[in-house]
Amino acid sequence: MADTCRNCRSRRRSIKTRDLCSKCLYWQGRVEDCSAKLEFVRAHPEDLRKYRPQLLFSRMRKARRVLEELRWREEGLHADKVDAQRLEALVCALARDCRSAVAASTSTLVEKVSPKSRRQMYEVLLTIVENCPSRWPNLHSLERPIKGAYRYGGWSEWSEEYCRSQAFSDECKMNRELERAYYASRERDDSRGPGHPT
Ligand SMILES: [Zn+2]
Repeated sequence: MADTCRNCRSRRRSIKTRDLCSKCLYWQGRVEDCSAKLEFVRAHPEDLRKYRPQLLFSRMRKARRVLEELRWREEGLHADKVDAQRLEALVCALARDCRSAVAASTSTLVEKVSPKSRRQMYEVLLTIVENCPSRWPNLHSLERPIKGAYRYGGWSEWSEEYCRSQAFSDECKMNRELERAYYASRERDDSRGPGHPT
């Protein structure tokens, strides 16, 4: 078994099955679960309403994004030095999770810290960010949280960007195809008439 996770390359967490750490295994499992359900709906369009493909697509894309974020978090730990933007993104994430704010001078202050000290601060802050109770891990972002104007930081930026992407258009197209297959299956059932064995 590998000693680092094949997704995030973490050495901190124990490696579970398939060379994935405990965190990545959970999110990878979610991707695969949604993917398997979508395949099932493709094969059985009449069951579409039970599985709600739109929700499955959304869960799958978010889980993939979380896997990316877990990689980003570990990259900072693998380096000897951390750049100012990476550390500032973590400060913003922590402030956002605490419903707090970040001072306007933060960028300047972080720039003044040596890259090696930033690396140590990054490790200290990452532990706090990782242990904040939240359903979805916070995504890093340089967007400063503002009190009273709460946004979801990296999640807001990512979803705005994703909605304009080709991947999102493809997802909508697949969803429409599944809907069409569902209505076609309904029409087939209706044309058989009541009492027809299904
Ligand atoms: Zn991992």
